[in-house]
Amino acid sequence: MTTSSDVLRLARGDVSALPHLGSELAACDVDLSDNTNLWGAPPAAVRVLREAQPEALSRYPSLYSEPLRSAMLRYVGMESVAGIGIVTGCGSDDVLDSTMRTFGAPGERLAFSSPTFSMIPLLARLNGLEAVAIPLTNSFDVDADQLVGAQAKITYLCAPNNPTGTMISRAAVEYVVANASGIVLLDEAYAEFAPEVFADLLTQSERLIVARTFSKAFGLAGLRVGFGVGNTTLTRLVERARGPYKVGGLAERAVLAALEPTADGLEWVRAHAALSIANRDRLILSLRQLGLGVLPSAANFVLVPHARARELARVMRTRGVLVRPFGGFPQEISAFAESGGAALRISVGPWEMMETLINVLREALA
Ligand SMILES: *Cc1c(COP(=O)(O)O)cnc(C)c1O
Repeated sequence: MTTSSDVLRLARGDVSALPHLGSELAACDVDLSDNTNLWGAPPAAVRVLREAQPEALSRYPSLYSEPLRSAMLRYVGMESVAGIGIVTGCGSDDVLDSTMRTFGAPGERLAFSSPTFSMIPLLARLNGLEAVAIPLTNSFDVDADQLVGAQAKITYLCAPNNPTGTMISRAAVEYVVANASGIVLLDEAYAEFAPEVFADLLTQSERLIVARTFSKAFGLAGLRVGFGVGNTTLTRLVERARGPYKVGGLAERAVLAALEPTADGLEWVRAHAALSIANRDRLILSLRQLGLGVLPSAANFVLVPHARARELARVMRTRGVLVRPFGGFPQEISAFAESGGAALRISVGPWEMMETLINVLREALA
């Protein structure tokens, strides 16, 4: 009989070396840890799920979400641009993963700015890619010269950036898109909260893919739907690497309803994104009044550099508020020098939640 250590040895090294994402973040009354929509889901999507017929469960969905494509293209303002296509996925994580698998052969490089979305180095490793981290500048812009200089097969950009919440400049994005040696993967998971999006650059480069998600502003994280927009040659390649049937039939219908320009569909999403932006700016002022340094935010969360981030998060959790502590951020970025590379990330939600957060954080700091 084999023992589990034999199994471990038989596994691919890239896989056995990966962490198994644990539930270090246990359930809490006020969960401000994952940047989902704390007002809930659009009523139009909820209605679709309530009224679902049995065949929606017993039949396979479309192969590659064909019924969603035109609505998604319209949503990103690309419906009248020739040659632009959509690739969907089981969350945008799946689009990021499939894009890496499509273009990055094992041993090739993926360049990204640090700190960024924690899944990126993990997915890169899973795909056998060498992840090259280039620190953000002191003003939280990407270091476009160094990113391009990494000569990577895939260059990842995140705008607004998670976990900093900060925006990157159009000039830097344009420079990377124009000069990067391979594919540029631009993650706009928080586009709905940002002052600016860069999907228009798709008309300038066939090597750009823009990733979007229904998990954040759209309030549908539980359904797992994301998509990529790009030149049709590119999106069709990524679909091949992705494989069929990644978006379930019910998820497909709920997403279609959320994209309808109705009061309980897309207008609901836009109204709650606006509310989130207003509460975010109010929260930043309140946190500064507590004497905390807070990074400027273009997303639905804020980042607070603090040397005691981990301890603060632990104390706050015992009082029913979950926030996400980070450590190990590059200390050459001046905002993280004093905190030793540690910070707290806090999602924005209804103001009553923000009041609870502020009170609990004030107590934890005392
Ligand atoms: C949350 C998030 C995603 C989206 O994840 P899904 O797989 O679509 O739920 C992608 N990129 C970033 C930067 C994120 O923060």
